[in-house]
Amino acid sequence: VPFSSLPLPASLLQSLAQLGYENTTDIQASALPLILAGRDLIAQAPTGSGKTAAFGLGLLAPLNPRFFGCQSLVLSPTRELAAQITEELRKLARGMGNIKIVTLSGGIPFGPQAASLEQGAHVIVGTPGRVQDHLSRGTLQLDSLNCLVLDEADRMLDMGFVDAIREIVGHTPSRRQTLLFSATYPPSLAQLTGDLLRDPAQVKV
Ligand code: AMP
Repeated sequence: VPFSSLPLPASLLQSLAQLGYENTTDIQASALPLILAGRDLIAQAPTGSGKTAAFGLGLLAPLNPRFFGCQSLVLSPTRELAAQITEELRKLARGMGNIKIVTLSGGIPFGPQAASLEQGAHVIVGTPGRVQDHLSRGTLQLDSLNCLVLDEADRMLDMGFVDAIREIVGHTPSRRQTLLFSATYPPSLAQLTGDLLRDPAQVKV
């Protein structure tokens, strides 16, 4: 469907036009209306389906640019993926003006990340270990979080991040929206979603 038929702010439609994205992919067509309506969501979608823009547009649409607290957090299994997500979110946010998106992943010095957080950030994209580090050292607060995204959740479980994820979620408000994207949906994931998501809608492509 054309993006212009979705209830997206003009600033995001402008970014999409600049990127040359006219029509949604299947996952965007099924997931975006649910996300924009505020639902929790379990989305089974592989890489290449356009899932990053699906949750990216969903988390950027309600963002308040004038409030520099962390409003959205995306957790991803690897540094490389976190970097790709940040890059795509920055492209999508271009029409919105001054939106700060910070990547928090391992293998990169902690100090500059902490300094960057001190200036305030609207969106954090990170790997669970490093996000947990920032929370425990008090350099990151998630009490104003509106939207939590778990991307490639099956891979995060395979990599042993379940406890880190649960601890991070413990720092977020319970009224948040939670979106889970995964290529597969094993039983271990069903247990996690049962604990973390509220009345989730489910989509699969
Ligand atoms: P992903 O599945 O998120 O890794 O996205 C796969 C690729 O599709 C990325 O390079 C996106 O930039 C691109 N893409 C996502 N949504 C659209 C769209 N609606 N139209 C054209 N390209 C898109």
